[in-house]
Amino acid sequence: MGRVIVVGGGVIGLSCASALLRAGHRVTVLESSPELDAASWGNAGHIASEQVEPLASFSSLRSAWRRRFAAGGALDLPLRAAPAWAPFAIEFLAASRPSRFRAGKHALRSLLAQAFPAWQRAPWAADGLVKADGHIVAWESARTAAAGKAALALADTGTARFEEAAPEDLRRLAALTGIDIAGAVRFTGTGQVADLDRLADALERDVMRHGGGIVRERGSVLVQHGRAIVPRHEADLVLVTAGVASKPLVESVGHRAPLIAERGYHIRAAASGWPADMPPIVFEDRSMIVTRYADTVQAASFVELNVPDAPPDPRKWQRLEAHVAALGLPLHGPFTRWMGARPTLPDYLPAIGRSRRATNLLYAFGHQHLGLTLAPLTAELVTALASDSEPDLDLAPFDLERFGGKGGRA
Ligand SMILES: Cc1cc2nc3c(=O)[nH]c(=O)nc-3n(C[C@H](O)[C@H](O)[C@H](O)COP(=O)(O)OP(=O)(O)OC[C@H]3O[C@@H](n4cnc5c(N)ncnc54)[C@H](O)[C@@H]3O)c2cc1C
Repeated sequence: MGRVIVVGGGVIGLSCASALLRAGHRVTVLESSPELDAASWGNAGHIASEQVEPLASFSSLRSAWRRRFAAGGALDLPLRAAPAWAPFAIEFLAASRPSRFRAGKHALRSLLAQAFPAWQRAPWAADGLVKADGHIVAWESARTAAAGKAALALADTGTARFEEAAPEDLRRLAALTGIDIAGAVRFTGTGQVADLDRLADALERDVMRHGGGIVRERGSVLVQHGRAIVPRHEADLVLVTAGVASKPLVESVGHRAPLIAERGYHIRAAASGWPADMPPIVFEDRSMIVTRYADTVQAASFVELNVPDAPPDPRKWQRLEAHVAALGLPLHGPFTRWMGARPTLPDYLPAIGRSRRATNLLYAFGHQHLGLTLAPLTAELVTALASDSEPDLDLAPFDLERFGGKGGRA
């Protein structure tokens, strides 16, 4: 077992660090941010085993115009960011072809079937950190409820199942909202992380307890010497888990990683008046998910394709506040406001594997809307790769070489 440098201490990096340490590796995590501001610590907390259909699909394309931000929807492609999203959109179109969609679905289904079991196996996730109570999807009109349920009936939801919400769920929804909910379904086989701060704490403590190091330093770069990466800190292996910032890192050694920052926004307020046992609720007509955490309730939404460090768009927080008010939810300001970037590749499959361009480089990034969901499983897969044993799943669909690189495919 060797020394591993993990570049990026989000949920993927820390989960990998924990699993690598348990397998006997010596691990140091390099994290460039002094704060817990990454997507890992501001997401919707949903363990989304049901999302087996890649968003690179004809159905996403068909609905894109209706979902645009200017028309009240969640999808935003700011004109100023066109140089970033236009090349992504071209590859997205190609990945949406039926044959690639089917292959992507097969690949995601294999990952997501193991996602919840991996959470339940994760030793650091004990003590109620994971809740297995499913989630609720609700609609506000009879028309959207009928259309939403019909679409779900045709969708592949992997190992997750759904049924009409029970009268008790409907009663509790009615008590929470000031409007009539026209229909709702309840998923089982999905879940949530009870609290993201607790998650970060549990992972960091686990890494330290097992002798790992977490070094907060800015600007890690990969320096290649012949076929190997030479990290600033001594190591046999380098694992890149830097979310959307993985792009310049792996591209510096000849890979091609057409990542886009798929930015999302949330607002949070104190949890008074929100039942502690209420699972995440998706208000589908508003593309908004509301999650109860330990002391706060969070409303999140939006898919804004942008460069990672563009200034946030305050209209999105205002829109979230307007949704909360229109639904009559018991959530009152002052709200904290947050924006973060999902690391997304054009085919909506993550990149998990061992580099064929540098002998000692592993990578795990591009988990799009599913990074929290897939973190413990990704850690198991990466640990198998680092230990030169055969992973339990076929990782060929997640090979970064699918995007080529300097000089074509390696
Ligand atoms: C609004 C919203 C809601 C979401 N909801 C869900 C959900 O309900 N369920 C779900 O499964 N997923 C959800 N996601 C997606 C999920 O948050 C991401 O897929 C996940 O956070 C990706 O984790 P990561 O560790 O790869 O990247 P990140 O969370 O981006 O972490 C990467 C880390 O690397 C660090 N870093 C960057 N560059 C360097 C460098 N050069 N050197 C050292 N460190 C570096 C960063 O500071 C950061 O801490 C959501 C995302 C958003 C935005």
